Amino acid sequence: MRRALAVLLPAVCLLVGIVTGWIISAALTPGYRVPSKAGLQRLCAPNPGVGLRQWKYIILHHSGGDGDAASIDRYHREDRDWENGLGYGFLIGNGTLSGDGEIEVSGRWRRQIDGAHCKAAGMNEKAIGICFVGNFEHGGGPSRQQLHSGIALIRYLSARFSIPPENILGHGEVSGANTKCPGRHFPLHLMRAAAGAPDKAAAPQRHGGFVRVGRLLDRREHRR
Ligand SMILES: [Zn+2]
Repeated sequence: MRRALAVLLPAVCLLVGIVTGWIISAALTPGYRVPSKAGLQRLCAPNPGVGLRQWKYIILHHSGGDGDAASIDRYHREDRDWENGLGYGFLIGNGTLSGDGEIEVSGRWRRQIDGAHCKAAGMNEKAIGICFVGNFEHGGGPSRQQLHSGIALIRYLSARFSIPPENILGHGEVSGANTKCPGRHFPLHLMRAAAGAPDKAAAPQRHGGFVRVGRLLDRREHRR
């Protein structure tokens, strides 16, 4: 009996310690919750008095590196000389400068003006640009939280603007866009599936659980 206790007691103490540590760390980790439909409605609302445009496409991007809406806005204003700043409609953070999966909204979206994320095929005038923070060509894929938020946002926007799955494209899939964006590890099929229909990407290949982007062109990215 005493021997059994001598073995069991440390094991039980260890288990209690592990569970307690896990609970404390989970409580202390700042989490970002995917917004509800009402939350998305609030998030996607334009400025007062501004009407929503009839967006026809959703173009998906990666940022190529870490950043948040403020830092990329600054980069687009100062380095690209774009007076309207941040070229995308939405940015989904990776936990570096903004929350993991946090959705940030641009001033362009709030004012419903043209984007500056995909000049090819006139997409800046007709497509909602969503950028996932990270590099999914050279790094891994987006985080789980980014995927959850991205899927929720795409589901909401595609329903709101009646955008069919075939009009949800990776930047590099747009005719005339010479870019690898959003990278071969970006799961475009999941994003199209979010809009409620099967993936229609041209010849996708399975790659590490994700689908490799069918058409990868040159290394130039985000040219406008
Ligand atoms: Zn892009």
